[in-house]
Amino acid sequence: MKILVPVKRVIDSNVKVRVLADGSGVDLGGVKMSMNPFDEISVEEAIRIKEGGGAHEVVVVSIGPAKAEETLRTALAMGADRAILVETEDHVEPLAVAKIVKAIAEAEQPGLIIVGKQAIDDDSNQTGQMLAALLGWPQGTFASAIELSSDKARIAREVDGGLQTIDIKLPAVVTTDLRLNEPRYASLPNIMKAKKKPLDKKSPADFGVDTAARLKVLKTEEPSGRKAGIKVKSVAELVEKLKTEAGVL
Ligand code: AMP
Repeated sequence: MKILVPVKRVIDSNVKVRVLADGSGVDLGGVKMSMNPFDEISVEEAIRIKEGGGAHEVVVVSIGPAKAEETLRTALAMGADRAILVETEDHVEPLAVAKIVKAIAEAEQPGLIIVGKQAIDDDSNQTGQMLAALLGWPQGTFASAIELSSDKARIAREVDGGLQTIDIKLPAVVTTDLRLNEPRYASLPNIMKAKKKPLDKKSPADFGVDTAARLKVLKTEEPSGRKAGIKVKSVAELVEKLKTEAGVL
């Protein structure tokens, strides 16, 4: 079985995000970019499945600027076998990403597509669900465990009330949650080897997908600052303050 893993290049999760002065978006100038953390989890899971004999190839795909090649090389250094870069300078929305990944899935015929639950830049949490719908495949979202048997997957899903276990037939789309695994670091020899692994370059037009924005960003602003907290000495004092100062009781 082949596993397809879409990975997005996003602003690094440790960077303090700054809003552009004109409110048109987030300042990306000179800012460290990395693989979306949920996608690191997806790559790790795909590699573990392959190492366990459940897959023969892990293919990673990224839709983004030329520099997204670095993100793909990171995935190759972790252990993916092959990469596809769909190069565009456009800000590609989840629906267009899903359409491109669908076209790639039709050509590559993976048994499983492991998608991050959300990209930490736009926080959409849409691509995996849209992809499954476009392909007409079953989906298991927010996975904290994936168990594969011949033609199905048992997924433990993180839901509001705890865990829900579902069985879905393959091929399927699974989206990853934080507790699925701890991604490995790529070793130096593997980083060197990754430079020689195959990386195919394509464009959205090769898949007949129009990446023009369908959504309009009206304004981007910093969240309002939080007031400093206080320490209370007793439960009685807490209740008193909630009643008289916060007015929430
Ligand atoms: P989102 O729906 O934007 O929150 O993204 C969810 C997941 O879709 C990400 O974790 C990635 O696995 C995938 N994805 C989104 N955008 C891209 C992209 N430009 N290239 C590759 N994968 C993407």
